[in-house]
Amino acid sequence: MNPCISEVFSVRDLHLVTDFKSIKKKVLKFRVDELVQLLVFLKMDYMGLKSILQERILEYLKKIVEENVPDISLQQKIDELYELTKLPLRKHSHLVGPWHDAETFPMFSEIRQLVVSRKFDLANGQQSVSFTLTPHLINKILKGKQADGTFRFEIQLNVWNCEMREDVWNDVFLSIEVNKKPIDVLHPSPHLIYLTQYCQLKEFFKNRIIISSSRPQSLTNYAFSLCIVKRRFPFEVIEDTPVKTVDNDTANLLLKQLEDQVERGYKLYLTCPITKSVIVWPCRSVKCTHPEVFDLLTFLNAQQYYLQWKCPVCRKIITYQDIVMDKFLKEHLDKGLFKFAFYKRRNNTKFTDNIDGGIQCEVELIAIED
Ligand SMILES: [Zn+2]
Repeated sequence: MNPCISEVFSVRDLHLVTDFKSIKKKVLKFRVDELVQLLVFLKMDYMGLKSILQERILEYLKKIVEENVPDISLQQKIDELYELTKLPLRKHSHLVGPWHDAETFPMFSEIRQLVVSRKFDLANGQQSVSFTLTPHLINKILKGKQADGTFRFEIQLNVWNCEMREDVWNDVFLSIEVNKKPIDVLHPSPHLIYLTQYCQLKEFFKNRIIISSSRPQSLTNYAFSLCIVKRRFPFEVIEDTPVKTVDNDTANLLLKQLEDQVERGYKLYLTCPITKSVIVWPCRSVKCTHPEVFDLLTFLNAQQYYLQWKCPVCRKIITYQDIVMDKFLKEHLDKGLFKFAFYKRRNNTKFTDNIDGGIQCEVELIAIED
């Protein structure tokens, strides 16, 4: 380790190491919200009664003191949480970001919180937060830079609806400045905004983020935090955490859809409504009742910036776990077939194909049972 860095560590950590009593005093002032946030930060179990959470944390801190393990960001975190204890708790605040459920949110995992979770407070028109990066984190970010300029480890601003009673989140409108320079943010805005490319990756440089909104009321039920996260890119998620497959839901869903209808046939073209290209990963969710599918990779490419996902066909709220791939359609797609004509048999006599010019080679005529 660079002697200069080790000096910085030792001076800063002296406080944590020698002053366990004052740390303990601070932790004992923490309410459940702050205790949970510290446990999330430490990647420890955050379930249990208040006294158990306190005990878990103090035991860990005592060990750190005994082992003399330097950790500046932990010290910063405790100080920051201690400052929060001086603010009133807002009713119904749920300040643990929803992404700690890795199965539902597979696109990234939190490494460290840089600015602890809090509700938006734009009473003064804007909210300002700042953070510094340790040499260790800067190294991690720089080492994870990909050939295409994207980062594996990113500084992420995340925004989520902390009003647990609300199923459908309203749109948010964010304007963001990083170190006095405004950055481009879509309106309505995504829930996850990656800031690494706009931040100064210098040791102990104070990066300042100013958040404002053209519609501050859109953020009333929202909380935010700033984290270092490890990203997983859509194709990696598809490969490493494959979605479940179903044999042929299309036929079952079609039967239900055609139940009360005169029509006996249905044509399904597997082209993506957004990119117009042929679907590779034909998916829908277990909540969907439509035969139409969407392409998983296209979907993840767009949804990786959101914490609440909607099916692009029926707009139902879905999670990654809800998504299933139609194996039957996938097998046909892999053979280059992407136009399908489904029909219901009439009195067990095969329904004749009536596509002009005969059956096109890419059209698969599929009977669905009555
Ligand atoms: Zn749907």
